[in-house]
Amino acid sequence: MLILVLNSGSSSIKFQLLDMPSGELRCSGLVERIGSPNARFYLKTKDAEVDIKKGLADHKKGLAVIADSLMDPKLDLLQAGEQIRGVGHRVVHGGKVYSATVRVNKAVKDKIKELASLAPLHNPNNLLGIVVSEELFPEATQVAVFDTAFHQSIPEKAHRYAIPNSFYDKYGVRVYGFHGTSHKYVSEQVAEYLGKIPSRMITIHLGNGCSITAVKDGKSIDHSLGFGPSNGLIMGTRSGDIDHSLIFYLIEELGYSAKEVNQILVGESGMYGLTGFKDLRDIQKAAAKGDRKSLLALDMMNYRIQKFIGAYAAIMNGLDVLVFTAGIGENSALVREGVCRNMDYLGIKIDPDRNQNPQRGIWELQSDDSRIKILIVPTNEELEIARQTYRLLQ
Ligand code: ADP
Repeated sequence: MLILVLNSGSSSIKFQLLDMPSGELRCSGLVERIGSPNARFYLKTKDAEVDIKKGLADHKKGLAVIADSLMDPKLDLLQAGEQIRGVGHRVVHGGKVYSATVRVNKAVKDKIKELASLAPLHNPNNLLGIVVSEELFPEATQVAVFDTAFHQSIPEKAHRYAIPNSFYDKYGVRVYGFHGTSHKYVSEQVAEYLGKIPSRMITIHLGNGCSITAVKDGKSIDHSLGFGPSNGLIMGTRSGDIDHSLIFYLIEELGYSAKEVNQILVGESGMYGLTGFKDLRDIQKAAAKGDRKSLLALDMMNYRIQKFIGAYAAIMNGLDVLVFTAGIGENSALVREGVCRNMDYLGIKIDPDRNQNPQRGIWELQSDDSRIKILIVPTNEELEIARQTYRLLQ
């Protein structure tokens, strides 16, 4: 069954065409800089690449280029009689309504629109992707897969903020959590790999955005991102946890507007604010040359992760499996080593050689005397969206 996965952002649309249930990737690609005369369309198949620059005025034009290419006989992506049966859409915010993947209908679209107040940068573009896709692929079932869904199992004592109840009751102010598709995917991969669902697991997603989840018996029970995607760990350009009185100091004493403060904390902070680099590879290179700012930033990043591991081990009464995933988690031996350093009180002991030389796929990093399994599990959010879409269409 052919499933198209779409991730429609503010100025880009990423896509993958997968044959399910095998998960075979027919093609992947993206349209970027939508709205600019210099937009780019890129598509990669097993044996071909298309890379064109042309003006694409809006998402409709962008998605039309994707649709045309998928049907292009020269690229030979669809065999005779084959058609795309389902389109799985990444939707960032499902509020407290959606704890699972759903078929899109009018009510679902209305709800995604209503939830735009909670995710103004994402939900409107995700919805636009759905609406255009309905027009371009009328035969396919449209499916919404929510980033927040996996975290709906977080219990009330962990998802509530200690602020007046009315904000929760009237406006839904609470922890929603994000990166759920990735945390769910890697948790399920671990269960499949071990042949059982681990009782106490911590999954650490370290990409441009970073988050950590306490996964008890396969369910998310606590998570570092909260009402919005800014809390918790130190990220590429986001500060993670700060004392909120800092926000008032910046506004009331230093004269910044609320909008400027948001831009500072979300776009100019984190590893970038500390080092001037967004890409961890640059920070690692500078640190290797002894750059003090980069060394400190790496130390701070690891320290913050360690604090969360301690907290989540405490709420789960111990730990069995620690998982690293996403760009940094899968590729940075330096960060993994830093996170696991001095954690032997918890039974976390990393083997330096295994950490330096991981093989493809799921890879165990713990030393022989480590009580905890430490795993690299490559994430694949697109495959997870395709799987969930496929299951719903069965
Ligand atoms: P996104 O959150 O945008 O999906 P990714 O999961 O692709 O991001 O992760 C991006 C991050 O991964 C960047 O900070 C990048 O520096 C880091 N990264 C990618 N490859 C490596 C590598 N080989 N070593 C260290 N960091 C890496």
